[in-house]
Order: sequence, then structure tokens, then C-alpha cells
Amino acid sequence: MAGIEVTALHKRYPDGTVAVEHVDLSIADGELFVMLGPSGCGKTTTLRAIAGLERQTTGDIRIGATLVNELPPAERDIAMVFQFYALYPHLRTRDNLAFPLRAEGLPKAEVRERVDEAARLMRLAPLLNRRPRQLSGGEQQRVALARALVRRPRAFLMDEPLTNLDAELRADMRTEIKHLQGELGTTMVYVTHDQVEAMSLGHRIAILNKGRVEQIGTPLEVYDRPASLFCAAFIGSPPMNLIEVEVADGNLCGQGGLTLTAPPGLPRDRRLVAGVRPEALEVAEPGAEHSVPARVVSAEWLGDEIIYVVDHGGRRDVRVRMPSTVRFAADAKVGLRHSGGAPAVYDVGTEELVA
Ligand code: ATP
Repeated sequence: MAGIEVTALHKRYPDGTVAVEHVDLSIADGELFVMLGPSGCGKTTTLRAIAGLERQTTGDIRIGATLVNELPPAERDIAMVFQFYALYPHLRTRDNLAFPLRAEGLPKAEVRERVDEAARLMRLAPLLNRRPRQLSGGEQQRVALARALVRRPRAFLMDEPLTNLDAELRADMRTEIKHLQGELGTTMVYVTHDQVEAMSLGHRIAILNKGRVEQIGTPLEVYDRPASLFCAAFIGSPPMNLIEVEVADGNLCGQGGLTLTAPPGLPRDRRLVAGVRPEALEVAEPGAEHSVPARVVSAEWLGDEIIYVVDHGGRRDVRVRMPSTVRFAADAKVGLRHSGGAPAVYDVGTEELVA
């Protein structure tokens, strides 16, 4: 097993497209590391460069202690799982799993042992004698993961492996992948544009934007303290409310009078925006203590909670997450108040977190 170091990675495709501007990653041995970002931010290119499927323009890649810049994919000792699986249609599960091992020329007994082990881990034992067309989409995906597993690589690279599954299956597979990675302790780099997947899987997450890393942190860190306005707008569903504020009497004050606790160390003479999670706001009866007037624009009922969109301070898009027991009709007058601690604060000019 091995950690992965990516240093000053830059990739320019022959047509001039710069897919990766500058990426540094330091992935620990045994870590489940997620690369998250919108379409086109350079996730796949970075992953393919680690795999050796794409040659970087400049920069270094190390797997374990080995500088692998010049090594072909087969010599990097990693396994890659893609969104689309290519199982051999004419082979039974058992032979699909055994295929890469036989190709390596491993002895029969060892092939059997490894296939049985992978089948146990991915709970495929009852499916070993079926061909791909006799398997559901999720089962095929498990076979594909197991096929990556049998090789016992130093690291797994996964590129949106769950994209083609329905929501329920995705959730199941997510749990399975996380469990598996924990059990094997093999380094895994997992690419996704789905933040729920990133949050639930990753030990750490790198948020990429336009070929650069915007933030690296644990799911909690990137959720609580997004490092830039881009991350603030990208993470969370619905995302943070970005409210322009001024510092007054040691507090932060929004345009409609909404008052927030000011974090220490705010810079002076800058335009500031507070990032306030929908769950850090409350709607209450009009005139409730510490509240400011607002009006319900719409309410989205999600079962156990309701997302209220309210009109306040000259904008009609302030989002508030409330338990579904708190009910106001559209157009109702309400009181809006802050219920969380000091928010993350951004400099409008640099778009970076300042406190
Ligand atoms: P997605 O989530 O849509 O797969 P991504 O973050 O994985 O996106 P990449 O596939 O790495 O992004 O692509 C980054 C940029 O490089 C995009 O602008 C893409 O159009 C471009 N790109 C990718 N492959 C090539 C190529 N072979 N030639 C030219 N440009 C490319």
C-alpha cells in the first residue's frame, strides 16, 4: 500500500485546453481521498495522470516512494474503476474476476483464493456462476469493484463509479465502498461531482475549480468553513446564504437588520459577506425575540424538514431549514433570526475566507 503525492501538476491538452492549472495533493497511505468539483474542473484529468493514462505537461507524481512520471499504467500497481464497467459478457463472474490474475500468470490455487476473498468482501458468492447479463446494474458494479480488488493494488482510483445507478443503489454501494476501503486499508482516490457522495465517503475532500485546488479538508471542515466563496456556494444543499454585512458595535449587520455574531479578527475597510447555513437561521412568529421582519416566498417540504425561502433585506432568496413541525404558509409574515454561532466571513474582493 502507498500514499500518493501530486506536485505542481499541470496538464495542457494538444488542442491548447488547460485542464489542470496547478494541483498539489498529498494523499496519505490508507486514506479515502475524494476529489470533488463541477464538470470540467480537471478531476478526471488529475486522476488519469495518477493512473498513467494521461501524461502531465509538467509536475511530479509519486506513488509510495516511487516517482512514476515515466512509468506506464501497468507498472504503477494501481487499479482504476470507471463509471462504465467493461465486464466480459461471455464470462461468468468467477472468470471475470480471475481474468486479470490469470493474465498475470498467477498459480491456479492463488487465483482461486483471491477470487474467493474478493467475492466474500463484495458479497458476490451467490453470483459467481452468472454471466453479466444475468446480473443487475448494481451487481455488475460490485463485480467490477471486486475485479479491481483481486489484484491487491497499492491504490484504487475511482472515477464516478456510481453515476449510472439509481439513488437507492448508489447509497448502498457508497456504504459498501467505504466499508471495503476501511477493511482493506488501501489508499483510494475517488472522483465525483456529487457532494453528498464526497461528504459521506471521504476522509478528506479536495474541492477543485478551474484546474486548481480551492480547499482540502475533512467533510466537516469544508462544510463548516468553506475556504472561498466558490466553496461556500458549492457545498451544501441548499447552499449557504451569502449575505453582505457591515461591522457595527462588534456585530455583523445585514441590510435588513439581521444581526450575526462577529468572529474575531475581521479585517477593516473591506466589503464583507457572511456565509450563513440555512440551518443557522430560523423563521418564527413575526415580532419574535431577536427577529427581523421577513415574508415567506415559498416552502419546500422534504418530509422531516422544510426549506423556507424568505424575502428579507431586499432579497427574495434567503434559505432557512426548519423541522417540518414549524409550518408557515407562502406569503406569511414571519420573524427571521440567526440561531448559529459566528458565521464564516469572506472578503468580497479576494473571495477568500477571512474569519
Ligand atoms: P467531468 O466531471 O465533466 O468529467 P472533470 O472535472 O473530470 O469533468 P476533466 O475531464 O478533467 O474534468 O476535463 C477538464 C477540462 O479539460 C475540460 O474543459 C475538458 O473539456 C478538457 N479536456 C478533457 N479531455 C480533453 C482532451 N482529450 N482534449 C482536450 N481537452 C480535454
